[in-house]
Amino acid sequence: MDDKSYNPFAMAQAQFDKAAEVLNLDAATRQLLRQPMREYQFSIPVRMDDGTAKIFRGFRVQHNDARGPGKGGIRFHPQETIDTVRALSMWMTWKCAVVDIPLGGSKGGVICDPHNLSSREEEQICRGWIRQMAKFIGAQVDVPAPDVMTSAQHMLWMLDEYEVIYGQKSPGLITGKPVGMGGSLGRTEATGYGVIFTVREAFKELGVEIKQTTASVQGFGNVAQFAIRLYQQIGGKVICVSCWDQNDQKSYGFKKESGIDPDELLKFTDRFGGINKDKAREAGYEILPGSAWLEQPVDLLIPAALENQITVSNVEHIATSVKLIAEGANGPTTPDADQKIAARGIFLIPDFLANAGGVTCSYFEQVQSNMNYYWEKDEVLGKLDVKMTSAFQAVSELARKRKLFMRDAAYYIAISRVAQACKDRGWT
Ligand code: GLU
Repeated sequence: MDDKSYNPFAMAQAQFDKAAEVLNLDAATRQLLRQPMREYQFSIPVRMDDGTAKIFRGFRVQHNDARGPGKGGIRFHPQETIDTVRALSMWMTWKCAVVDIPLGGSKGGVICDPHNLSSREEEQICRGWIRQMAKFIGAQVDVPAPDVMTSAQHMLWMLDEYEVIYGQKSPGLITGKPVGMGGSLGRTEATGYGVIFTVREAFKELGVEIKQTTASVQGFGNVAQFAIRLYQQIGGKVICVSCWDQNDQKSYGFKKESGIDPDELLKFTDRFGGINKDKAREAGYEILPGSAWLEQPVDLLIPAALENQITVSNVEHIATSVKLIAEGANGPTTPDADQKIAARGIFLIPDFLANAGGVTCSYFEQVQSNMNYYWEKDEVLGKLDVKMTSAFQAVSELARKRKLFMRDAAYYIAISRVAQACKDRGWT
């Protein structure tokens, strides 16, 4: 969406203000929670492969750490802004609170486009980010992780730079590390699987048999790929995915009525989740415009790409068959589109609940890293299912009891917990 007036931080604050009003929060708590506690903006000089010097802009925003060290990913994106990072840091605070893990909310970013960077240049950006932030992060302070266009390799370069600076091993500094290098089994799958654990519970509540359902997914990156896999494993069918095409600078939908095959699509997908159109067409996929994913006559929509994707200009295109929307991405739905979704009675699993599997598994990773003792994959995923299911049930129970939209119910639970922590510490 190229809506120039869209400001994710204003949207995150509007969502917060609405919940704060209903919760009747006192003025100091509102003032504290509607702004980040701390923000860092800095330059990262990098010697490029062609010998020239280039300066990248980096960010880290620590929204709130009343419940524990800050936690949240670092995004590499050409359109990154301080306001996007502010919004995402606030959503991280609510995300950690709604799944009840002892962590606060942070987020980081760098304005860059990894499509146009070599691996060495990306490594320099990672190391430069750490050199600027090393004093202000740490296992007991603020713990970064991967996010849009960053991976386990980026986390390991960052950790290595940090360990060089401090002259000691600190595997609890960062999560989403490679397995065998302090990473947790199941972390790669965690966000996508977590989305589907909540989808499973929502369909149960709606009295819908998952085996009878179909879905359409926006995005084919880490979250989307593992959500598709688990959803298909438990009997659902994904008929459409959409993704960004870097050459054409627009997105396309890939449709197969009989169900898309993620393994097949992966053979011609780049490391950013971009699918090669020609090869997909040869493999029998129908190529549609990027907006088509939203218009499919399915039961379930999973926006799992970026923020600001379901807006007033396209929300009416959602088919009448859609019963459930599970937000794999952060902030995919704007507040005005939200109202229309609520009015139509579509069940929505809000982003900071639906996609909390990633940070929940990051928490498990940090626990394992700090103990230097690593669990089996089944144990990690089993614990993840327990956490996600109980968070979903707490939110849906409140929504049912108080006749609330799921997003509002999730906000009440998360904000109440954070406000209580601020009060208990004597901050408010
Ligand atoms: N970047 C992910 C998110 O937005 C994971 C954060 C983490 O693991 O700390 O939830």
